[in-house]
Amino acid sequence: MILDGAMGTQIQSLHLAEEDYAGTASGHVCRHHTDHPQKGNNDLLILTQPKALEEIHFDFAMAGADIVETNTFSATTIAQADYGLQAAVPDLNAEGARIVRRALDRATAIDGKPRYVAGAVGPTNRTASLSPDVSDPGFRAVTFDDLRVAYGEQIRGLIAGGADIIMIETVFDTLNAKAAIFACFEAFEAHGTRLPIMISGTITDASGRTLSGQTPTAFWHSVKHARPFTVGLNCALGAAAMRPHMAELAAVVDTFTCAYPNAGLPNAFGQYDEGPEATASQLAGFAEEGLLNVVGGCCGTTPDHIRAIAEAVAPFAPRKIRQEEAA
Ligand SMILES: [Zn+2]
Repeated sequence: MILDGAMGTQIQSLHLAEEDYAGTASGHVCRHHTDHPQKGNNDLLILTQPKALEEIHFDFAMAGADIVETNTFSATTIAQADYGLQAAVPDLNAEGARIVRRALDRATAIDGKPRYVAGAVGPTNRTASLSPDVSDPGFRAVTFDDLRVAYGEQIRGLIAGGADIIMIETVFDTLNAKAAIFACFEAFEAHGTRLPIMISGTITDASGRTLSGQTPTAFWHSVKHARPFTVGLNCALGAAAMRPHMAELAAVVDTFTCAYPNAGLPNAFGQYDEGPEATASQLAGFAEEGLLNVVGGCCGTTPDHIRAIAEAVAPFAPRKIRQEEAA
């Protein structure tokens, strides 16, 4: 299956100003009061620029994405505290899911292909297992329970808005992800449902470990109790550097795998120069090696990247889960 590409890159290309973020220009003014400037609060565009977001989701769907993520990477009370918009969290998540659903229904009306809304749950801007203060290694800026409560509010919103999948992504601290997993099961119980969970870690340096120090195999053993629909990697170093880590994961996990790298490494200006064909040909290599069940793109990937990836991996069979592992 094909996953979509980056929201941030597409939003950047709209060149939105403060009044666009706040909604004063579009007439969709956010009903939640805040005195903070909102430029850069991409999640708020769910409430203030819903049409623009729906078009981005629609473009990714028509480019070949079967699974499209909500624009809710930072829609938790913890991440929205930077913008004074903690009270908007339920609306951001429910509306975020509804916008994707509308875009996908339009695409399906054209080509008849079913498509799925993945509710995006980001890592937040805090880390539960590391201290941000080098002189006080025991200090934590956030606890497991803080994260559990914040994620719970986000996930209940995503479910209320009709998400088909919960996507816990860009995991740099596995303890944060474990709080999100716990919150998923609490939310599923409250809603009397059980959605598939996708979990995606991020290898942040050349030593092949997450920020909290785990190898891909250790990461898998830390999250497998969630019985996730997929486990994989996203973001960080681009496809070339991700390949050995995906190969390690694909060899140990007894569920489906998912990879969505950035469009290469960022340049000096923080932009991604790797073109659609370059990203796609590398991911075709992943598929040929039998490493992939779900594939898409992260930072810097556009609808053209997703179209190229979908075409490049099409000749190859999805990875098979080894029977002795599945048993
Ligand atoms: Zn990324």
